[in-house]
Amino acid sequence: MAKIKRWLGLEKRSADINTFFDTANFRSSIYMSVVIIVLEVWMLLSLLKRWIAGDPTRTRLWFIQHFAWYMILLTTAVCMLVYAVFYLKGRFKKAIPGKIIMAIFSAVSLYFGISVSYSDYTKGEQILCFVMMVIFVVGLINWRPVVSILLSTFVFVLFYNMMKNAPEVVMSYATQVNFFTLWVSVVMLSTAVYSQRLSEAEKNESLETSAIRDELTSLPNMSYFRKKAGEILAEDGPEGKLFLFLDIANFKAFNEKYGFDAGNDFIKSTAQKVKTYFENDLYARYSDDHFVVLTDKKNIKKRLSDLTREVRGQHESTHLTLKAGGYSPDSASYDPSIALDHARYACSTIKKHFDSFYCEYDNEMDEGFHKRQYIITHLRSSIRNGYVKVYYQPVVSSKDHTLCGLEALARWIDPNYGFLSPGEFIPALEEYRLIQYLDRAVLEQVCKDIRSSIDSGSKPVPVSVNFSRLDFELMDVCSQLKEVIRRYDIPADLLHAEVTESTLTSDAGNLRSTLQSIRDLGIELWLDDFGSGYSSLNVLKEFSFDMLKIDMVFLKNFNDNDKSKAILDSIVKMARSIDIKTLTEGVEEESQAEFLKEIGCDLQQGYLFGKPMPVDELKTKFTP
Ligand code: C2E
Ligand code: MG
Ligand code: MG
Repeated sequence: MAKIKRWLGLEKRSADINTFFDTANFRSSIYMSVVIIVLEVWMLLSLLKRWIAGDPTRTRLWFIQHFAWYMILLTTAVCMLVYAVFYLKGRFKKAIPGKIIMAIFSAVSLYFGISVSYSDYTKGEQILCFVMMVIFVVGLINWRPVVSILLSTFVFVLFYNMMKNAPEVVMSYATQVNFFTLWVSVVMLSTAVYSQRLSEAEKNESLETSAIRDELTSLPNMSYFRKKAGEILAEDGPEGKLFLFLDIANFKAFNEKYGFDAGNDFIKSTAQKVKTYFENDLYARYSDDHFVVLTDKKNIKKRLSDLTREVRGQHESTHLTLKAGGYSPDSASYDPSIALDHARYACSTIKKHFDSFYCEYDNEMDEGFHKRQYIITHLRSSIRNGYVKVYYQPVVSSKDHTLCGLEALARWIDPNYGFLSPGEFIPALEEYRLIQYLDRAVLEQVCKDIRSSIDSGSKPVPVSVNFSRLDFELMDVCSQLKEVIRRYDIPADLLHAEVTESTLTSDAGNLRSTLQSIRDLGIELWLDDFGSGYSSLNVLKEFSFDMLKIDMVFLKNFNDNDKSKAILDSIVKMARSIDIKTLTEGVEEESQAEFLKEIGCDLQQGYLFGKPMPVDELKTKFTP
């Protein structure tokens, strides 16, 4: 049934396939109309010649009738030609007026073919004009087969009857057979051409679709979005337009808890919601759990709050919610990528604000935005130029406060912005997935410093280096470590690798084996900032660590909060019972240091023993 429907051209065609057929038909009608225009001008000129010469066999009425007919055909052909040329140049968006012109043009051409051929036939001549017009109208233009079959049958039956009833002409058997064969051939020709065109159009469509679609969500992809957004702005102007950047907050935690497949399902269903809420707008999947939209400003807060509620409703238990940043462009030629960067920046400013879901980019944000752009574009040159430095913070033993380690902390001392702290550049580098360049440079510098310390004859202490969660996705951390300790020829136990709990939520499949191979190299693995985020004791069971770095949150209001003391005490006991050493960060007061010693915390780090400092300062302060 479906095959018959398709053969007859009764299937539903997509907008893209319709456009494909319109384009093909308008292109064919250009050839047709040019041939007919040339023919008609020729006919008109010979008619004029006959009239001027004063042909006595023709009446005045005959001349007027013929002139009118040639003019009608010429006019419709010119209209068809003009419309088709402008349509193909993209000047006309709608094909409907062109289709009406095409239908009139076809009807006039067929009428012309029939009437000229009939008059020739009755004079005992050929019917080539009829054949030519039928081939033009039914062969060159791709009607749906049901239309071309009905249309050709109608004209063939009509013309057959006219020939059959023509006075004084007897239609031979051979002519009848040939005429019938011609009809069958025309029908077959038109359906065959249509079906070939249809498969061509479908192939084209599927190729185009896969080039503009995001594979996971089937939403348009970013290259389509950027191109289309530029066209929309250029056409409609920037008034009332708003670029949105949408981010699913806490998505990483969701992925960890429910697994990768459930994470993908969540992204897919959120994509469907974005599609529904911004049905008439331009939208796309940006990357990971991010979406972008070009919409109207009108009612935006209400629309976003409804969408946010729905997204949250999908999974009440996991605090998943949507954050949106907006940017209104101020010119029709505004670069969509920059507009989206602004919207993304606005969105990033509310990432940690639990109660806000929408923030629009404004002049105040501009400074922060430019700083961030500066950071991401200048990272590599700043590393090369030595603006990115490594500072070291002492780690001491609780027992006697002797130096037993250092933590390497990055600093960026920029000629334009001055002193930049990790709190300013690390989130930007993580967001733009550039953090591995920083961490590689820090690791390199640390090894260089250890080497020169060994070379100068002093006894170096181990240095712990921070690794971002993304490093494990963006580089081979273990190979990097192996290569650098080999190159600088330093003992592996002089390096410690610090990772935070968020690293362990990463879906890098072989994370566990990577972490284990780091330990196998002889490098200690330290768990940083324990207790600061969504701590789960489960990670201690799942992964093996040498040290637990207890976050400084527990030392805040230390003297007034007995609960903090009790918690610290139990963390230290718990760690010891599973054979992990402990270090508490952020020690600023003697009383804190004393307490930590009492409860058996092994190491301490904090301003009380020294702030992070450049290597030269370290040498003067800590060399006995
Ligand atoms: P972290 O690894 O937990 O480093 C400890 C942070 O606490 C440092 O901040 C340090 O200056 C600060 N701190 C140390 N003692 C005290 C104290 O007694 N009181 C107070 N209030 N603060 C103290 P910093 O250097 O700003 O670094 C912040 C975070 O940036 C680090 O936290 C680490 O997560 C990240 N980070 C720093 N350097 C790097 C790096 O090279 N690579 C990566 N991936 N992350 C880095
Ligand atoms: Mg650290
Ligand atoms: Mg820490």
